[in-house]
Amino acid sequence: MDLNTKRATAPSQEEVAQAVKRYEERTGQRFAPRAVFFDMDGVLFNSMPNHATSWVQTAHHFGLDMTPEEAYMHEGRTGADTINILMQRQWGRPATMAEIDDVYAEKCRLFNACPTAGKMTGADAVLARVKAAGRTICVVTGSGQRSLLERLETGYPGYFAPERIVSSKDVTQGKPKPEPYLRALDKTGLLPHEAIVIENAPLGVTAGVAAGIFTVAVNTGPLPDSALTEPGADLLFPSMALLADGIEGILSQGA
Ligand code: MG
Repeated sequence: MDLNTKRATAPSQEEVAQAVKRYEERTGQRFAPRAVFFDMDGVLFNSMPNHATSWVQTAHHFGLDMTPEEAYMHEGRTGADTINILMQRQWGRPATMAEIDDVYAEKCRLFNACPTAGKMTGADAVLARVKAAGRTICVVTGSGQRSLLERLETGYPGYFAPERIVSSKDVTQGKPKPEPYLRALDKTGLLPHEAIVIENAPLGVTAGVAAGIFTVAVNTGPLPDSALTEPGADLLFPSMALLADGIEGILSQGA
């Protein structure tokens, strides 16, 4: 991959201030973040390589075409939505409920057979600084896999209360629709300008922006930065470790 397609440094404090100004002009609201909504795969856990591998293997098992890059581009969709898109493209019809169940079961089986994904480097520090700043922490994920949801509590104990987790089971329309992030606003009783979204996926950025929330992209995968900035990310960081250095500067913008 051309390294020029990915920035290597964190945005400066001046760039952060400009991004907040653009957000306020776009929404007509005063940015005042009281909560941070974290996506899970590719943000808290380095689980996307396992997801991409298991999606591609599953698709091929059922006679469907899929590349690893496509798996990254579909990240954030519910399993049912991804399966429907693959079948519609290949066979010209949506998947039946039984097919969705079969394909998603195989995807979960292969994913669960992968080596356990580690925590994303720097995520602990981001969470610690958000908590120390007195902000509410939520997780908003397209995943409904119990194995990953259980890992939240073991990997990041004390950060994610069950009532502040939004999973695929809580929504009728997953990312890129705004519904998952709107559910998080419901659960916290906040308005869009009172939250920040942290996302690594193009469709997740689309969902956060569509919910009217200040959306920070963290490019932890193989896609070029443009895959995250074109859907409208307000800021882009190259890693969670660099976001850990920058998160207080974002939160203080609304202070
Ligand atoms: Mg993600």
